[in-house]
Amino acid sequence: MADYKDLKARLDRGDTIIHDAAVSTELQSMGVPLDFVAWSGPTNYTHPSSVIQMHERHIRAGSDIITTNTWSTLRPTLERAGYGDFVREINVRAVHLAQEARERASDGRNIWIAGSLSSHISGRDPRTGEIGFGAFSSTPQVSVDELRQYYGEVTSIMAEAGVDFFIVEAMGRDNEARMIQAQVAKETGLPVWIGFNAYIDSKDTVMAGGQQVSTDVAEGIQYKGSRAMKDLTLAEAVREAIQIDPDVISIFHTRIPTATKAVEVVLENWKGPVMVYPDAGRRSSALAKWYDHSNDNEESTEEYIDAARSWVDQGVQIVGACCGFGVEYLKPLRQAIPEKV
Ligand SMILES: [Zn+2]
Repeated sequence: MADYKDLKARLDRGDTIIHDAAVSTELQSMGVPLDFVAWSGPTNYTHPSSVIQMHERHIRAGSDIITTNTWSTLRPTLERAGYGDFVREINVRAVHLAQEARERASDGRNIWIAGSLSSHISGRDPRTGEIGFGAFSSTPQVSVDELRQYYGEVTSIMAEAGVDFFIVEAMGRDNEARMIQAQVAKETGLPVWIGFNAYIDSKDTVMAGGQQVSTDVAEGIQYKGSRAMKDLTLAEAVREAIQIDPDVISIFHTRIPTATKAVEVVLENWKGPVMVYPDAGRRSSALAKWYDHSNDNEESTEEYIDAARSWVDQGVQIVGACCGFGVEYLKPLRQAIPEKV
């Protein structure tokens, strides 16, 4: 067991904290087949032992926090993948599997469980008509009421199952979905950490959300009756997020050089703890990249560790890693970064 109060105390006294690395791509690298529509979501149901192993690997590599495998478990996605009757089951199991891994691997250390929340809803690819994971990564085609309902469902299930706090990992340029989600998560009474991915526009401004690869199918497509996607600077988006009173602001799913610039923006606009967990680069095409095992990451372990050190120097307190970065990147981290920020 771990109490969030102890994590809060560590944050308050300036301890550096190690988050986990990528959940879904780690499952992939273990050979777990991911669903074409719902990606890693159904694996809590179809491959529970592998999900436990994946979390255990992170704990043994030094993670203080592990994240539930719930990035792709919202009802509309699971329904489209044929798991509509298992929304509760899949989300409960995700939490229980993380708890089981904690039990097995924590070795007396405090390990906290973050409930991952994304705004990802798998949709229909407008080019091929196929429903698939890559078709949408933001939610402009979904109404505010529907979003509240979908987010409310998973946050109440995960809170009941026992996550220690929520980590909002909404992506795309839809800051509204991110804010709705953070508010809904807050309503459970649990602490909420809010994350942003970032990109740099042609005027060299750090922007919130956005896809880093312009070929992603969802970009720029506007649906009849949909909510507008507004371009926001990261500074504007962070100031909006602060209104919801998060415990931590993070930069995630962003390549290392952009993450470094984004951290500067966060630190200028937010006085609380900052977390970074970057994405690895791969040379294969956007939709195939995480499935392609013949490709190596562009970043070596040393490059990642150097970046982590420089972030802690900047004032970042929590470091982890996102898509493509496996546990081997985390292992040297505890030795490499100072105990205090
Ligand atoms: Zn990522």
